[in-house]
Amino acid sequence: MSRIAYVNGTYQPHNNATVHIEDRGFQFADGVYEVWSVFDGKLADFEGHLSRLARSLTELRIPIPMTAQALGQVLKETIRRNRVRNGIVYLQVTRGTAPRDHAFPQDTPPSVVVTAKSLDLRKGEALAAKGAAGVTHPDIRWGRCDIKTVGLLPNALAKQAARERGAYEAILFDEMGMVTEGSSTNAWIVDENGRLRTRDTQANILRGITRAAILKLVEAEGIELDERAFSVEEAKRAREVFVTAASSFVMPIVSLDGTRIGDGKPGPIATRLREVYLEQARREAI
Ligand code: PMP
Repeated sequence: MSRIAYVNGTYQPHNNATVHIEDRGFQFADGVYEVWSVFDGKLADFEGHLSRLARSLTELRIPIPMTAQALGQVLKETIRRNRVRNGIVYLQVTRGTAPRDHAFPQDTPPSVVVTAKSLDLRKGEALAAKGAAGVTHPDIRWGRCDIKTVGLLPNALAKQAARERGAYEAILFDEMGMVTEGSSTNAWIVDENGRLRTRDTQANILRGITRAAILKLVEAEGIELDERAFSVEEAKRAREVFVTAASSFVMPIVSLDGTRIGDGKPGPIATRLREVYLEQARREAI
């Protein structure tokens, strides 16, 4: 079955789905995106991703292209046309197409692209049961990582470096040796004292929607949390390391740069949080 994409008002087979060469997303990475996970054809945390999208667009002064209701319909229709039961739906909004000039164009409608893809949940489950490898990588990104822009070259370079070292994720660190986040995930540890830690979002990181959902679950589970940065060295000495994102939920990291984390198996906190997160995301998907 050929995949179908939504492009600026129409649904098209991927092979014909194109944007203009002067789309500012292509020319300047002048655009933002969101990824929702899909369970049984339904969107997980629709509102959370929607409000981050609105924030990203507002911060960049890109007009909000359609109402929440219309966007929900487009996401659902793209999921339906691609017969996705479990997987992800991807949305990209750019500042639109205009003759190339760094400054913003006037009265240009944003470009909107939506794609959807099926994922085999069993593969993710198998990896989570075993635990994944991580490597550390310097964070060379810009100063507005709170905006979810399509300018992902540093993230792509970090992920590629991880792949070349046989790892699942690159854990980024700043010039002080403190972990910022993963190349496409938020990073967490259960430190050597048994305290759950993740970097606070006043720092230059993305405000992960999965991170926010996990924070609520942490409270409900009565787990003590320290929202405070940790170093690469602390991560290597930690009892548990894990990463969170809409597409991977909670993924235990059992080695970092080849150093075994804890006993080299997914820890109890990551395992529990994955379980309760998935249960809630499934139950609340709309
Ligand atoms: N950090 C970065 C850099 C990311 O790209 C992502 C995934 N988009 C995340 C964190 C996790 O965010 P979310 O939980 O909203 O998917």
